[in-house]
Amino acid sequence: MGDYHVHLHPHGPHDGSGPPPGHYPIDHIEAYVEHAVARGADEIAFTEHLYRCVESEAILGHWWEGDPRKDLAAYTASYVRSERVLSLEKYVQAVVDAKDRGLPVLLGLEVDFFPDTVDAVVEMLAPYPFDVLIASTHWLGAWGFDLHDLVHEFDRTGVDAAYDEYFAVEKQLAASGHFDVLAHADVIKKQGQTLPEPPLDHYEELAIAASRGGMAVEVSTAGLHQPIGEMYPAPALLERFHRHGVPITIASDAHFPQQCGRDRDEAIALARSVGYTERIAFRNRVGRMVPLT
Ligand SMILES: [Zn+2]
Ligand SMILES: [Zn+2]
Repeated sequence: MGDYHVHLHPHGPHDGSGPPPGHYPIDHIEAYVEHAVARGADEIAFTEHLYRCVESEAILGHWWEGDPRKDLAAYTASYVRSERVLSLEKYVQAVVDAKDRGLPVLLGLEVDFFPDTVDAVVEMLAPYPFDVLIASTHWLGAWGFDLHDLVHEFDRTGVDAAYDEYFAVEKQLAASGHFDVLAHADVIKKQGQTLPEPPLDHYEELAIAASRGGMAVEVSTAGLHQPIGEMYPAPALLERFHRHGVPITIASDAHFPQQCGRDRDEAIALARSVGYTERIAFRNRVGRMVPLT
């Protein structure tokens, strides 16, 4: 059983508690492994954020520019400047070295999906020896909708319109077939904004898109620790992924060692409740089904 969504650096300014951004001492990686193993997770896919790596600037560009919401564009320009302090090269080397030492780790990446730049991103990532690429939507134009500082934008956009916009992009991501796993598939709910009724049409269409795109989806426990207080995806969405034959991974979205592998039993219970008995494991971006135990 693995944890297929793990970050080696937290967001925000470095507070001195872990290694500085872009540094990967082996004892830091080992600390993640120890926490995961103690919780019964036997392989960890590290999945650093692509947008946080300096190498991504030339490829992802300034996606916030051109959004008429100048307040959001200014916020995002500043946010990305402060967050983009990691090195893809150093990260890849650190995880490859950890694998070579025999640690039960995989080289992954959390890739930010923007329809306009996805082809260039795929080309950029091709030379690296990734085991698994997870992909996610965190921005709608200049709006980082899952950031607490920007939650007020739900009032201006409207919750209905925000969900429509989010699922439109997420369906494009799922259908693209470029990546292996959809990360936190309904993360639009993270800050607690929900619709009176679950958007079942979006759920159905997203599950079909993932199935056609050959993508898996993660069952992520991260939402349990956010205002929404529930896992991603919602049970009704996960049930549709299962019905359309979309495989799952189990994920914590840890940003600290002590978060690695947390709440796994709840994730497995949710997966079982909609019918899953297997999960997908990856090596060199090739998947194989293994029992959900
Ligand atoms: Zn994410
Ligand atoms: Zn993440």
